[in-house]
Amino acid sequence: MPDENSVFITFDDGLHPTITPFVLAELKKANAKATFFCIGKNVEKYPEIYEQILDEGHAVGNHTQNHKNGWNTSNLVYFRDVLSAAKKIKSNLFRPPYGRIKFSQGTGIQRLLPDTKIIMWDVLSGDFDTEISPQDCLNNVTDNTNPGSIIVFHDSEKAFERLEFTLPHFLEFCEAQEWAMKALNL
Ligand SMILES: [Zn+2]
Repeated sequence: MPDENSVFITFDDGLHPTITPFVLAELKKANAKATFFCIGKNVEKYPEIYEQILDEGHAVGNHTQNHKNGWNTSNLVYFRDVLSAAKKIKSNLFRPPYGRIKFSQGTGIQRLLPDTKIIMWDVLSGDFDTEISPQDCLNNVTDNTNPGSIIVFHDSEKAFERLEFTLPHFLEFCEAQEWAMKALNL
């Protein structure tokens, strides 16, 4: 099993001009690779950070152009938004914002962008949840991550108070378990 000793850390909702570079610096210190599900409009704003992610050996994925919630969005509008992001984000990975996508939207994306893999997760850090403490966020990820896990963080302002504390500790935790931290490569 190739994933026997690997974990897959992912970051949604970037790019951000200071938080994404913070994440990249922490990953580099830990010799970790990760996957960034970027919002297309943020890639337009910060193309140099997008290039840096790729240059440093990480993967990127499509997280729509404007962070659309599939459940509240018509298929036509949703597909346009995904295709608009796909022009900037060269990836066969897609993650629906909020994890909310209609079945017909999932099949539609696979028709429009044939090699696309829809990537969810099994470990939610809760870093976006302003009701929890940084320590709670760290416990969420250390208690629930196993080899093969896909873990979600956010390189966003809302998450930063928890991310700033949790990410360095979590990377150390993964190193201590001797887990390889890899980018998704599907
Ligand atoms: Zn998101």
